[in-house]
Amino acid sequence: MSQFWSAKQGGYIKCPVEGCNHVGIVITNAHCRLEHGMTREEVSKKYGLPQNVSRLNKKQIKKILAEKGKSK
Ligand SMILES: [Zn+2]
Repeated sequence: MSQFWSAKQGGYIKCPVEGCNHVGIVITNAHCRLEHGMTREEVSKKYGLPQNVSRLNKKQIKKILAEKGKSK
């Protein structure tokens, strides 16, 4: 089911964990482990699968990515 964790060409997905604004073309196992202390499987059981955010326009995605950068 790893296909759910990577976006279709030209799209983005958002990490399903509450309060996490991680957006990318792929949500890695490493992200889930480092940020949430869970495997992708555990994350999907608890929070569901990543949301497809392809419908967001580039400006909205940039904003999410910028906010993500600020919190680091
Ligand atoms: Zn996350």
